[in-house]
Amino acid sequence: MIELAPYAVSEHNTRGRAVPEEAPFGRSEFQRDRDRIVHSTAFRRLEYKTQVFVNHEGDLFRTRLTHSIEVAQIARSIARHLKLNEDLVEAISLAHDLGHTPFGHAGQDALNACMKDYGGFEHNLQSLRVVDVLEEHYAAFDGLNLCFETREGILKHCALESAARLGTVGERFLNKQRPSLEAQIANLADEIAYNNHDVDDGLRSGLLTLEQLGAVKLFAWHLDAVRLAYPKLDDRRLIHETKRRMINTLVTDLIRETEKNIRTHAVFDIAEVRAAPSLVAFSAEVHGQNRELKAFLHTHLYRHYQVMRMSAKARRIISELFHAFMEESRLLPPQYHRQAETDRARTVSDYIAGMTDRYAIREHRRIFAVEET
Ligand code: MG
Repeated sequence: MIELAPYAVSEHNTRGRAVPEEAPFGRSEFQRDRDRIVHSTAFRRLEYKTQVFVNHEGDLFRTRLTHSIEVAQIARSIARHLKLNEDLVEAISLAHDLGHTPFGHAGQDALNACMKDYGGFEHNLQSLRVVDVLEEHYAAFDGLNLCFETREGILKHCALESAARLGTVGERFLNKQRPSLEAQIANLADEIAYNNHDVDDGLRSGLLTLEQLGAVKLFAWHLDAVRLAYPKLDDRRLIHETKRRMINTLVTDLIRETEKNIRTHAVFDIAEVRAAPSLVAFSAEVHGQNRELKAFLHTHLYRHYQVMRMSAKARRIISELFHAFMEESRLLPPQYHRQAETDRARTVSDYIAGMTDRYAIREHRRIFAVEET
């Protein structure tokens, strides 16, 4: 095993679990967290949830499951190089999207709008709610009883009012402190993964073209280099090779800049990491290039009329389901009835957020189509 840096999260400095448990045999505390996440119900459902494309639009696109695995791969490479806790970044990466609604961002916006008068809906908070409350796998506690640092990493952002209600895991938002370096890595690995795979999926779906992407510096630079070195390459391989090099540039730059920041701020332990500004970062130049890529995707992919049509459908499905269950809670499956008596809106929100894309489409049909029961 690689020796960890003094500012890494370790089994010696962890704040532990809400319900104390005996130390695991043959694996670390954070490996145990990762294993619990992999065995959870919410994790399996990621296979049928999407970010940009709706699940049934095609089998070629990323789902949240493959996205989460890509995030874990990128985050682990970075953590290993920096002698940080690889098991912790893996656990955070695999869990970071557990609270996502069906239909990606469109679904989340719709559910948040429905929940406006009932405390709103935030996907990061919901991911935490999944691992803290909603998973029903263990006899001794609700949720997965994960270590503090895993939970802290899952809660990437949250509104200040929410932070105040969350106890220790919300404190850093109120004290303006940073999470562990491992959490910071998982956060940026998420960004590296989705920017790059959305380029890939965008090209493959035909919604983006190579010519358009020629305007994005980070992409164009690598594309030209690959074309020069391999003039006869077909487009499919050209895209993969370009994307591979982009990820490599981003990861390498992130590692170098972070090493520099750790040295400049002279952090020696986890408390100093929390008090320092965010140390895991891109260099100014690559940060600019990454932002350009993000802005491009916003304009040309996420607002593409075909994506907008899918999003509009998704919003309608979510909000019609929500209002139907709010009007008549007996439409909910029986296991939700009792909870719905005390807090109907949150129960409905939990039920909808847990749905996969195809389950939401089917449930909508079951409730609204006259020919089905
Ligand atoms: Mg993500």
